[in-house]
Amino acid sequence: MGEFSTPGKLIGTEEEFVGGEGVFNDCGRLHALYAGEVLVDKQKAVSVKPFPAVPKMVAPGMVVYGRVEDIFEPIALVKLALVESKGARQAQGDYFSVLHVSNVRRGYVRNLRDEVKVGDVIKALVTEIRRGEVYLDIKNPDLGVVKAYCSRCRDPLYLKDRILVCGSCGSTERRKLSDEYSAVER
Ligand SMILES: [Zn+2]
Repeated sequence: MGEFSTPGKLIGTEEEFVGGEGVFNDCGRLHALYAGEVLVDKQKAVSVKPFPAVPKMVAPGMVVYGRVEDIFEPIALVKLALVESKGARQAQGDYFSVLHVSNVRRGYVRNLRDEVKVGDVIKALVTEIRRGEVYLDIKNPDLGVVKAYCSRCRDPLYLKDRILVCGSCGSTERRKLSDEYSAVER
């Protein structure tokens, strides 16, 4: 899995890298110009490859499924998998979207990492598309994590008495769960 950027994200310094396409240099600190995949070549040139354009079928008000690819507080980068609209539809290609910590619960959330983790599958509402970026919200009870994996051993977690438990190592975890998670209760 590569590293991802959002506009303005610090991706290194000029001591480490040479700034390439999609990168700007601010007093020796290299920042991403836009959301995309961060690439480093053999000559230590760092560049940002932009994500593919958002498909027209993705629009505010739509419910989507996606996988959390990366978290850099206060946002998570989510790869969209399925678009739910008049029955489920599969989006072609990998499209990225953004979940901000303020759109996770109705109350205050301090750390996004306490609510979602890399690898989790979430069900989310598209609230906005701004500058080609899709913004998500998971506040509603039906929205949130629908499948989660153990942070220690990566096995799927199952729900037991509203707590996520790993069947392999016994670890217990919490997330901002969708009430659909109960579908995998055992
Ligand atoms: Zn485990």
